[in-house]
Amino acid sequence: MWAMIGTWRMALEGIELASKILEQGGNVGDSIESAIKYIENFPYYKSVGYGGLPNENMQVELDAAYMDGSTFDFGACGAVRNIKNPISLAKALSKFDTNNFLVGPGAENYASKIGLEMVNMLTDRAKIHYKNRLYEENQTNEKKDLKPYIGHDTVGICALDSNLNIAAGTSTSGLFMKKQGRLGDSPVLGSGLYADSSIGAASATGLGEDLMKGCISYQIVMNMKNGMSPQEACQHAVMSLEEILRKKRDKCGDLSVVAIDKDGNFGVATNIEGFSFVYQSSNHPAKVYVTYQEDGKTRYKQASDKWLEDYMEKRMAPLIKLYE
Ligand code: ASP
Repeated sequence: MWAMIGTWRMALEGIELASKILEQGGNVGDSIESAIKYIENFPYYKSVGYGGLPNENMQVELDAAYMDGSTFDFGACGAVRNIKNPISLAKALSKFDTNNFLVGPGAENYASKIGLEMVNMLTDRAKIHYKNRLYEENQTNEKKDLKPYIGHDTVGICALDSNLNIAAGTSTSGLFMKKQGRLGDSPVLGSGLYADSSIGAASATGLGEDLMKGCISYQIVMNMKNGMSPQEACQHAVMSLEEILRKKRDKCGDLSVVAIDKDGNFGVATNIEGFSFVYQSSNHPAKVYVTYQEDGKTRYKQASDKWLEDYMEKRMAPLIKLYE
């Protein structure tokens, strides 16, 4: 048995590609790296890797992390520029006992030292999005709130290989217009991801500042350890974090999570409408699902052909320059 789950529709092609590695008895870490690399390299996904939306200074700063649930190796990088595949840096760093979470120029120097490809990650499309945003803010004389999910999301992948190893990886350009140096949950162990091969793995996307307050991926894995199914574990973690944030702060950002257990069963929960995810396993073809809420719980259904077509059309549509 092998299985893979990823946040958002954008995980589809990466998961399909990486599932070939798992199908041939390959290693979970290689499958996660190859899935995430595909997504990082695809220029039309504006929330991960090349083509990711920039910070308020028009710089693309990327975060990524990798955790091996069999060895507890963990590596991460934050606020890195010009590294083509931040997931590869995170995975390389996970091999060390120390110095395994690097940020900024230190991480960039190390990446080029070990021969990772360095490229300018700011695309012309990303520049148009940035300039349009400034134009809109100038028109209204008001700065827009920083929000996830405006086509802007982290890819988080959890996988199980046929040797029963579980791992998780994340990659993101973080919130559009964030401050330089801002880190979200994605590279933070226990928040953006967590994996333990004897239990399962989880990964999150949404408002990093709030997801971190619940150490949500760790919480989900602990919920599974305590006997919950992946679905119950995800649902419980999202609902309790939302409840506690509303009680203490009167507000709660977007929270969405995916998980798998050691038998390859999956779970998903969110406090928004329309969170999408991809699941594939040795006995389940790759499918995109879209969530909805019913009786206060997250449910999901397979994405329709129309939904899938609209998704890609929207991603690749020509951009209008509002500022010209
Ligand atoms: N969680 C990411 C962050 O806060 C953003 C996202 O998943 O949309 O950086």
